Amino acid sequence: MEQSCYADVFLPLPLPGSFTYRVSSEQVQQVQPGIRVRVPFGKSKVYIAVIRKIHEQKPEGYEIRNILSIVDIEPVVTGNQFRLWDWISEYYMCTPGEVFRAALPAGLKITEKYRPKTFTSIRLTKAWGRKKKAGQLLAGLIRSPARSRLVTAYLALSGNHHGDVPPGVNKQELLRKAETGNRVLSELVSAGIFESYETVMSRLEKDDLPSGIITELNGPQRKALEDIHTAFDKTDVVLLHGVTSSGKTEIYIQLIREAVEAGNQVLYLLPEIALTTQIITRLKAAFGAGIAVYHSKFSDAERVETWMRLLQSGPGNENKIRIILGARSSVFLPFIHAGLIIIDEEHENTYKQFDPAPRYHARDTAIMLARLHGARVLLGTATPSVETYYNCITGKYGLVELQERYLEIGMPEIKVVNTRDLKRRKQMHTNFSPALLDGIAEALINKEQVILFQNRRGFSLLIECGNCGFIPRCRYCDVSLTYHKQGNHLNCHYCGYTMPVPKACPSCGNTGLIAQGFGTEKIEEDIALHFPQARISRMDLDTTRTRKSFEQLINRFEQKESDILVGTQMVSKGLDFENVKLVGIMNADTMLNYPDFRAHERSFQLMAQVSGRAGRKKSRGTVIIQTADHNHPLIRMVVTNDFMAMFNSQLEERRRFQYPPFARLVEITLKHIHRDILDNAAGFLAGQLRKSIRDNILGPEYPLVSRVQNLYLKNLLIKIEKGRDLSRVKSRIGARITELSGIPEFRSVRVQVDVDPY
Ligand code: ADP
Ligand code: ZN
Repeated sequence: MEQSCYADVFLPLPLPGSFTYRVSSEQVQQVQPGIRVRVPFGKSKVYIAVIRKIHEQKPEGYEIRNILSIVDIEPVVTGNQFRLWDWISEYYMCTPGEVFRAALPAGLKITEKYRPKTFTSIRLTKAWGRKKKAGQLLAGLIRSPARSRLVTAYLALSGNHHGDVPPGVNKQELLRKAETGNRVLSELVSAGIFESYETVMSRLEKDDLPSGIITELNGPQRKALEDIHTAFDKTDVVLLHGVTSSGKTEIYIQLIREAVEAGNQVLYLLPEIALTTQIITRLKAAFGAGIAVYHSKFSDAERVETWMRLLQSGPGNENKIRIILGARSSVFLPFIHAGLIIIDEEHENTYKQFDPAPRYHARDTAIMLARLHGARVLLGTATPSVETYYNCITGKYGLVELQERYLEIGMPEIKVVNTRDLKRRKQMHTNFSPALLDGIAEALINKEQVILFQNRRGFSLLIECGNCGFIPRCRYCDVSLTYHKQGNHLNCHYCGYTMPVPKACPSCGNTGLIAQGFGTEKIEEDIALHFPQARISRMDLDTTRTRKSFEQLINRFEQKESDILVGTQMVSKGLDFENVKLVGIMNADTMLNYPDFRAHERSFQLMAQVSGRAGRKKSRGTVIIQTADHNHPLIRMVVTNDFMAMFNSQLEERRRFQYPPFARLVEITLKHIHRDILDNAAGFLAGQLRKSIRDNILGPEYPLVSRVQNLYLKNLLIKIEKGRDLSRVKSRIGARITELSGIPEFRSVRVQVDVDPY
């Protein structure tokens, strides 16, 4: 009797669990876990699904459908990847389908096959390809100038050859050189003189030849490297806490070399795409070929190619990828045998994905990935996150300190400027203090560079009617609109809604609209007024939409083709410029006063990091912090670069108010178009949760921005004490949410869960 065979598959949909399909007897030989298949779903949809499991248990209770067709010959998802997906969906309370959707580049999820990029090559046929035949051939074409030009061009391009098969030349290049069209070439192909064939080409940039530059570590770096080795004997995760410009990257490169020589793959994670530009140059100088870069600014086809190349990077492949340099999403790549994961700037919150699900943290996910591969993890930063440093002092992670800057240049001198006082005395010039203007002037005279940091993009934070106080707000969100002078429009930074700037106040008709607060665009404009000769660049979300624009901005500044770089937190993250003398922090107050339990930690990290861009190579740098609150304890800690003071004070607060690392947070956000339905649903869910878990629940409350894209929002924050059975609490939370969506009145309420929402 014939055994029936079934496949459990994941669909790229936010639905729980896997789905079972029948495997026909013809398909049995071809299916295996990790292979993609086409399956019907719902009334008439067809999806690309990936097989998780093959078995012989017929599912009961519904009509089972067939797999329509099979896409792959070899698996495109590995066993370790599935195990990582499982962990993510369980830990971050999302569905495997959501993880699937985030993990695979779009090109692997659409129903067309991935097509390699090709170009057409032309060569002489074997009959005409032999050397002595060339003269005869040209003689025969003497009456047709176009044809003989083609043959001559071919001979010039292909050069001498000794092999059996005549060499191919690029068709486009041939036509250009011969100055002929396609038709003439086709005639010669029909006549059996030329033949044409397709050559596969890579979409990725060509690897440069290996250059194998080895930098000599200095004493403190060598000591740190030894300490890291010792620490790895005890724990698989180690933090390298090294001040800015201590040469952490050089230490990473040594560790990478060791891992690669042991035959392992390395994942090098960076928090910001902009950083890959600088690091890739350093990695290529050290390792040459075998490095791939992976992040969302690459085209989909390029990402698919990296994915496929990694799958083939097993032992024995000469051309394999040994090092992946990437942003957050590279934790999803199909590593075959990862041996080392480096997480640079581990404190950065860009490692956390907030929307959509999976709301994962790439650092924590990478640590899990390492565990699956038996790999080691090195976290590196000058300003560790409170939770990581806590893991170090409790012995969960190893800790290595590196306190000297590589060139023994002192940490920058930090000056605090009291803007409240200056404003009162009418000494602020637009948003610049005299000290900052003097500093910039001096740097420019000495041909040194300046970075100005402001954590907001756009021109002004809002515009306000000078008469009635009216402030234009987003139609769909509960926020004021940001004014962008370029393009003269108002823009919502939550949903992207834009509108032209009104000529007059829509409320009272007054034409005096006043810009309030300032963003990077305004600083760029003002600084140009103060220093008309200076060359100014701006780096923020608006100027870096493409990968090339990042590179150009960074290159320009590196090559000293611009004097002043104005930017958002993008400029704070580990960039290494040699000629920056002065860093200006335009306004420290918005960061400090942000209503979030990590606001102080974040402000410290941001200010210390952006300060770290000053004085890296030549002489000691200067930092000027403008603030209305110059006695704020956190500002003092930045000035004295006192990480431990920040850490201890924060830890104390977290302990007192039960925040991480002393509790885990799960945030539930409910969304609905009607406020009353939302209120009822949130109230109901909170009530049910309070009955079934004993953990502390805050809310429901409206968040700071209480309406986004036309939906009202309400939050519940659950604090789960350390030591509680986390998966049990989570499954109870999950059950209450399922229960809520079962109630007809609340069916249309959207519920989203964020585990570790920070
Ligand atoms: P960090 O990552 O700690 O901020 P980097 O690794 O970027 O510091 O090092 C700062 C600068 O010093 C870089 O330009 C780097 O090339 C240089 N540098 C660090 N260590 C060495 C070394 N051992 N030999 C030569 N140059 C070094
Ligand atoms: Zn909006």
